[in-house]
Amino acid sequence: MGRTAVAILNTENLLHNLTIIKNRAPKSAIMAMIKANAYGHGLRSTALRLDGHVASFGVASIDEALALRKVGIRSKITLMEGVFEPAELVSASLENFDVVFHNHEQVSWLENAALASPLGVWLKVDTGMGRLGFHVDEAQALLKKLSLCFVQRPLGIMSHFACADEREHVHNNFQIKQFQDLIANFSGTKSINNSAAIFNFPDSNYDVVRPGLALYGVSPVFGTLGSDLLLKPVMTLQTSLIAVRQEKKGAFVGYGGTYRCPEDMPVGIMAMGYGDGYPQKNSNNTPVLVNNTRCQLIGRVSMDMAAVDLRAYPQSRLGDPVTLWGAQLPLEEIASYTGRTPYDLLCAVQSRVKFQWT
Ligand SMILES: *Cc1c(COP(=O)(O)O)cnc(C)c1O
Repeated sequence: MGRTAVAILNTENLLHNLTIIKNRAPKSAIMAMIKANAYGHGLRSTALRLDGHVASFGVASIDEALALRKVGIRSKITLMEGVFEPAELVSASLENFDVVFHNHEQVSWLENAALASPLGVWLKVDTGMGRLGFHVDEAQALLKKLSLCFVQRPLGIMSHFACADEREHVHNNFQIKQFQDLIANFSGTKSINNSAAIFNFPDSNYDVVRPGLALYGVSPVFGTLGSDLLLKPVMTLQTSLIAVRQEKKGAFVGYGGTYRCPEDMPVGIMAMGYGDGYPQKNSNNTPVLVNNTRCQLIGRVSMDMAAVDLRAYPQSRLGDPVTLWGAQLPLEEIASYTGRTPYDLLCAVQSRVKFQWT
C-alpha cells in the first residue's frame, strides 16, 4: 500500500468549472491553460479530460505540447512563451501548434524559417504586465512583419492582466484602455482575459479567453472562495494518521520544539510533509480535517509528516483520513494561513503523492 498521501482529482468538477466559465464567456473560445503540469494536476490526464470540450490548450513550451500530441491530443495547442530556438518553428508548424511571438529574435527566426505549412501566430503585446510582449507602439509594425511571413490567417493579438484579481485596482482600467486602442483597427483574433478577468471584466472576453486557476475550481478573485463563484475544487489533498499519541502537559512536539502541549492532549501524526509539497511555513493553527472534523496543525511540518492537535476530535484513531484541502476545506483558506498563493500550493504538490482521478 505504501504512503497514503494522495491527490484525488475530480473529472466531474473539472468539467463543471468549464461550464461555469463558458457561461461567463459564452461568445468566446476557451483556451484551457494547462502549463506547469496543469497547475499540478497532471498535464496529460487533465488535457485528455478537457479534450473535445475546449477550443485549444495553452502550454509554456514545445515539450509540453509534444507530450500532449504523444497521448493523442489533436486539438490546437498554443506555445505561450513561443519558441526558444529557430528549429522549434519547424516542429511547431508540423504539429500545428500556434506560436506566441513576444521578442524580436523570435520574429526574425520566423522571417528566415523554411516551413512546410503556414504557422498559427499570436503577437504578444505588453499592456502593463511588464513581463513578456512588445511595447504597444511597436505592435502595428510587428503585425505587418508577421503578416508577411508564412502564417495562417487571421493573426492573433494577445495581452495579459497584472491585477485582474483585484477588480478595483487602477491598473486594470489602464490595461483595458491600452488593449482597446491596440485592437481598434485589428480584425484578427483577440485575447486578454485570464480567469480573474473572465469574472471581473467580462467586456474584455473577446474571441478567446484563457482560464487557468478557475478551471481547477479555485477562485481567481481576491477575497472570494471558489464556491462563491460556483466553482468546485478539482483537487482534494489527503492522507491519513499514522500515529495517535497521548502527550503530557509540557511535552514538545516536532523540530525546534516550537509547540509545547498546554495540557494532557491527543496528538496525531499525519503522513504528509513539505517533501510532498505541503507548505512547511504556516501558522501553528493551520486547519486540517480529521475524519471531516476541523483540527489544527501544531509544531513544524517535517519532510514526510506533520502533527495535528486532536483535542477537537479526541475519538480519532490510527488510519483516520486527514484532508489538507478540498471541497470542505478551501485551498484559498489554506493559502491565507501559509502566506502562499493557491497557484503556488497546487504547483508544489510532488509526484511522490499518488494522483488518482475519479
Ligand atoms: C497562466 C496564464 C493564464 C491563466 O491565468 P489564470 O490566472 O490561472 O487564469 C492566462 N494567460 C497567460 C498568458 C498565462 O500565462
